[in-house]
Amino acid sequence: MGVIMDLELLKRLSEAPGVAGFEYGVPELIKRELAGAVDRLWEDKFGNLYAEKGKGEKTLMMTAHTDEIGLVVKYVDEKGFIRFAKLGGIADHVLLSQRVFIHGMKRRLPGVIGCKAFHMMKEDERKQLITYDMMFIDTGASKEQLKSYGITIGTPITLDRQMTALENDLFVGKAMDDRAGCCALVEALRLADPKNRVVCVFTVQEEVGLRGATMSANAIKPDFGLAIDTTIAGDHPDISEHESSIKIGKGPAIVVADGRKDSLQGGLISNPLLRGWIMEVAEKGGIEFQLEVLEGGTTDAAAIQLAQVGIPSAAISIPSRYVHSFSEVISKKDLEESTKLLVRLMEEKIPV
Ligand SMILES: [Zn+2]
Repeated sequence: MGVIMDLELLKRLSEAPGVAGFEYGVPELIKRELAGAVDRLWEDKFGNLYAEKGKGEKTLMMTAHTDEIGLVVKYVDEKGFIRFAKLGGIADHVLLSQRVFIHGMKRRLPGVIGCKAFHMMKEDERKQLITYDMMFIDTGASKEQLKSYGITIGTPITLDRQMTALENDLFVGKAMDDRAGCCALVEALRLADPKNRVVCVFTVQEEVGLRGATMSANAIKPDFGLAIDTTIAGDHPDISEHESSIKIGKGPAIVVADGRKDSLQGGLISNPLLRGWIMEVAEKGGIEFQLEVLEGGTTDAAAIQLAQVGIPSAAISIPSRYVHSFSEVISKKDLEESTKLLVRLMEEKIPV
């Protein structure tokens, strides 16, 4: 089975603004893409989008999160400069000089993240990391103008980044985490003729603590849970093979275990039967995959497994370079192979 990815969809998804808690347009976009392709589409009060397709004894819940990391207005000073808080795990050094959009109620305003000019810094200041509390956003607008545009404390801010094709079918864009997962899941839903009851949930607020997955798993009460997300590829300078053996272009990563650094607390130890089945389906379909133990991150599956009386769960991740940098690189091949695997999982009866 060949899968031809809708790269226009990936572009639209990656460029759509939707920081945690303010996903707005992203579920809307997905809803439009899936209209007519699934049996049922609905949303809950928090904006989680549910897409159901197929009938079967068992319910398989699959998730991809719609939210992205971003910022929120914390304070506006007398001159109209904006201080911000971070929504999700963002390293300070990737923020400086970024162009942003501030999503006012009445107007979307472009801006730039600034700090004290290098020339004005003292010798010791120049060597220091500039932390986000030393930065501010300049929109050119006065405090009064910002107010008239509906920009106040709590207004969401996204990064201004278009998707660009690199050599060898690599793509760089913002929010590939997890719009690449959303893209694969949308495409799989369109293509598959499921032999299980498949409920795909495009979850909200993953980046601030797996909140949408927690709610939706309790609502769906599935028999099995599977999160589709992105993960850290270590195939570039300064990450050694033993720190991350995941490479882009080598197929989806099937997660064995993940969680916090040093302890794997707060994460997922994927259900061995479910994981074994996923590996078997991949092998049968000739789909190349990688096994992963990830220290320093987790996915929606960690929340799904804890819902109700416990739900056997697993996770599949699309390898990505520079995760949480606003310039995340993924490979078209991995996206295709992941989609292929999702289609097959939907179409194979779960034997457990
Ligand atoms: Zn993610």
